[in-house]
Amino acid sequence: MRVTVIGGGIAGLATAYFLLEHARAAGRSVKLTLFERSAGFGGKIVSERRDGFVIEGGPDSFLTQKPAALQLCHSLGLDSQLIGTNEDRRKTFIWSKGSLRALPDGLTLIVPTRMLPFVRSPLLSWPGKLRMGLDLVIPRRRSNGDESLASFVRRRLGQEALDRLAEPMIAGIYAADAERLSLQSTFPHLLDLEQRYGSLIRGMLAQRRRAATGGTASRTGQAPFMTLRGGLATLIEVLVARLQADGAMLVNTQAQTLRQADSEYLIYTHDGSCIAADAVVFATPAYVTAELLRPLAPAAADALGMIRYVSTVTISLGFRSKDLNHPLDGFGFVVPRNERRRILACTWSSSKFADRAPAGHSLIRAFIGGSRAEQFIGLDDDTLVDLVREELRLTMGLTAAPVLERIFRWRQANPQYDVGHADRVATIEGLVGQLPGLYLVGSAYHGIGLPDCIQNGKRVANLVLGGTP
Ligand SMILES: Cc1cc2nc3c(=O)[nH]c(=O)nc-3n(C[C@H](O)[C@H](O)[C@H](O)COP(=O)(O)OP(=O)(O)OC[C@H]3O[C@@H](n4cnc5c(N)ncnc54)[C@H](O)[C@@H]3O)c2cc1C
Repeated sequence: MRVTVIGGGIAGLATAYFLLEHARAAGRSVKLTLFERSAGFGGKIVSERRDGFVIEGGPDSFLTQKPAALQLCHSLGLDSQLIGTNEDRRKTFIWSKGSLRALPDGLTLIVPTRMLPFVRSPLLSWPGKLRMGLDLVIPRRRSNGDESLASFVRRRLGQEALDRLAEPMIAGIYAADAERLSLQSTFPHLLDLEQRYGSLIRGMLAQRRRAATGGTASRTGQAPFMTLRGGLATLIEVLVARLQADGAMLVNTQAQTLRQADSEYLIYTHDGSCIAADAVVFATPAYVTAELLRPLAPAAADALGMIRYVSTVTISLGFRSKDLNHPLDGFGFVVPRNERRRILACTWSSSKFADRAPAGHSLIRAFIGGSRAEQFIGLDDDTLVDLVREELRLTMGLTAAPVLERIFRWRQANPQYDVGHADRVATIEGLVGQLPGLYLVGSAYHGIGLPDCIQNGKRVANLVLGGTP
């Protein structure tokens, strides 16, 4: 069977890996070709190792509660490279009314599960806290159907919880606008808690009790987020080395046109060459997939084109630790929209993970852009660094001059799961499914996190080989 994967980000690479593994286990032969447009593999995963710093341009870690990424690392023999977040520094701050305030202990995403730290926290006003408490008595929503995260939080926990907790946390993860973000596609477990327990707080408390007796990640001592010692690109390097042994892995190769000829597909690349395949896996951003599919499936292309993307920038700054007038005693901070600052969030990378900076140095990474401020991506490097330094001076009081500056611009990189996303994806998959042998993977559909992309790749690899999802 000839399979072509278009796109060499984590989704495309994971699909290719599982395809070959499953085929080998089933005694089947797969002739794999993978096209990657840029000069290297990994897509959003870029780790730069420079002067003892490990700088992540895109993702810096993966969630272990969804096990697919961790399991992939295990099966690639990367156990000795895995590192968890520094749990003794586990603290996240929120910029609020002129200072950085720690999120109270026991806050699970946005739902308080320990009352004392929450009650004592200066992050919310007394009326705001009381309004959150009403979650215990507000009846569950009767109607089905998707809802924005903002509407859900406002309904259950109140406007202040939305403005001061949910919105900045969500902006930090999804670079998204909470008023447009689909609850069903991003935090389905919150919806589930409401339906099952009639209250988020009651539901979270029940889950905590179960975790305490059950042996979940927190009880087994596994960090909720993990990365690799040399950066996440290690995962890509090892994956690619495995794949190169069995497949044709082509960089600088842009898929440009797709045609159907009898029972096979012809994929033409930018240089006019052509390859025939029995199955094609699109691991490209939705807007790229849309144009490749348009001649064969115009309705699917239109629906794919409706998945919005926003742009973000990460700016990493390295410092001599002795120059810093801040303890970096946490993982970093997020900034609510109504504070009108120019950064979305800031990670204190060398506090969050070991080995991110050489001895005597610290590494900080700021995020800007997202649905709030796309225009920043157009600024030149010097202006971006000046902007971030000014923001860090105002928020953290940081005045030191960096010894390292590194900027990564991510244009049209973050898919937005707007309300109705799950229905849209079901429509797209239904339409594409009418063309046998065509498949979609990647962050545009069933989750933006690395574990989601990997899990989806595994599922699709199985489908390509004729198995069940
Ligand atoms: C700044 C940032 C921080 C993030 N942080 C985290 C995090 O900490 N944890 C986490 O789990 N997730 C994080 N994410 C999300 C996660 O990184 C992405 O969702 C994931 O890496 C996307 O993988 P992908 O393979 O779907 O897409 P991509 O990585 O975008 O890969 C798509 C590939 O297709 C290639 N391509 C495009 N067009 C063509 C063509 N015509 N022909 C051939 N190739 C083509 C591209 O060059 C690219 O390599 C972050 C994302 C960003 C942008």
